[in-house]
Amino acid sequence: MNSYTIRATQIAISSDHQSDFKPEGDDTALSTEPLRRQVVIIGSGPAGLTAAIYTARANLNPLLIDAPADSERQTTPGGQLMITTDVENYPGFAEGVDGPELMMQFRRQAMRFGTEFLEEWITKVNLQERPFTIYTDTKIIKTETLIIASGASAKWLGIPGEAKTPAGFGGNGVSACATCDGPLPAFRNKRLVVVGGGDTAMEEATFLTRYAARVFIVHRRDKLRASKIMQEKAFRNEKIEFLWNTEVDEILGTNEHGVTGVRLRTIGNGESRTFDCEGVFIAIGHKPNTDLFKGQLDMDAIGYIKTSGHSTSTNIAGVFACGDAQDSFYRQAVTAAGTGCMSAIDAERFLDHLPITMPTGEEVTIEGEHVTPDHHRIILPSGEVVSNEP
Ligand code: NAP
Repeated sequence: MNSYTIRATQIAISSDHQSDFKPEGDDTALSTEPLRRQVVIIGSGPAGLTAAIYTARANLNPLLIDAPADSERQTTPGGQLMITTDVENYPGFAEGVDGPELMMQFRRQAMRFGTEFLEEWITKVNLQERPFTIYTDTKIIKTETLIIASGASAKWLGIPGEAKTPAGFGGNGVSACATCDGPLPAFRNKRLVVVGGGDTAMEEATFLTRYAARVFIVHRRDKLRASKIMQEKAFRNEKIEFLWNTEVDEILGTNEHGVTGVRLRTIGNGESRTFDCEGVFIAIGHKPNTDLFKGQLDMDAIGYIKTSGHSTSTNIAGVFACGDAQDSFYRQAVTAAGTGCMSAIDAERFLDHLPITMPTGEEVTIEGEHVTPDHHRIILPSGEVVSNEP
């Protein structure tokens, strides 16, 4: 169920085809350890790649680390747009653009200016002192600044039957990605359920009607959260039916046949019933991929990294966050790209303001401040001497 290609002309994004996403020449060999960098970027969605384009053009030689494609851990180099079909609202594409094609262009542009790519799992980070340290399975990387663009992953309902097979039917009739799995034979000409009432649910349901016999959108309220245009597309689609004020309590099936139905509950009267279907697509939103930074960076209760004011600065100087890892509100490709650009500029300015060590041992900042060789005092441009104690 995890191996698929979207269209013959598009980029394959299953783990078997992950290298297809990389344009020619994107196989940077990194041999020396520990690696030292001015800028490391984590994540290769619109935010990470925009940060890469900007920092590479600023001659900061960024290293971009992205996780290998892994269907189990829901990672895809290129981020969520790699599992989207038509992107109609990314400016500059009057006729719309395929998500994977758009990300390929982002990546090519980042490479053109010298971004280096490293596809590895990060096991831990130490942000307690600068340079910050990033540990991957095989490398230790030291960096003066870190841009976190690790994005978000699909959320699950946490109901019986949803877990990965064999514990449940995940990968055997249950999916969180219609564009990935919808074209599979298991879902063709079948009755499919999509859970959710946002843009993702509308998009997934509409996409699935290309293959399915009928698609039922199960939503817990009587109003959709999705944008008007996406709602209208779904309402107009004759293959789509809505089950309002309804929740899925359990996914039913057998290991042999996969999903055979769902147990639905009507909100209000609590009535429970079995509903026949052969596939379930969960489309209830996303959670930020920020577990790696817990305990070191300030986050909200859900895990979105807090940034300060009109900037991408986190609570640690030199660490910046952009895209869906810090944005619980807009969550658009274009806003992710915008904050990626902001992160790059923030990192660039941070680096510009780091003191330069002179042969005498004193450090000089871009503002003309002199830090004495013993680091105890700062001589301001006015000549005033202040203490350098924290
Ligand atoms: P979302 O807007 O947060 O919608 C999530 C939906 O799932 C809501 O309808 C919510 O119900 C429902 N839900 C959440 N938890 C649930 C639970 N435990 N049980 C049942 N239902 C649950 O997420 P999204 O649809 O993934 O969209 C996220 C962002 O991406 C949005 O800004 C959207 O515009 C954007 N997006 C854009 C496109 C596009 O332009 N092509 C495509 C996809 C997404 P309630 O409504 O009751 O809260």
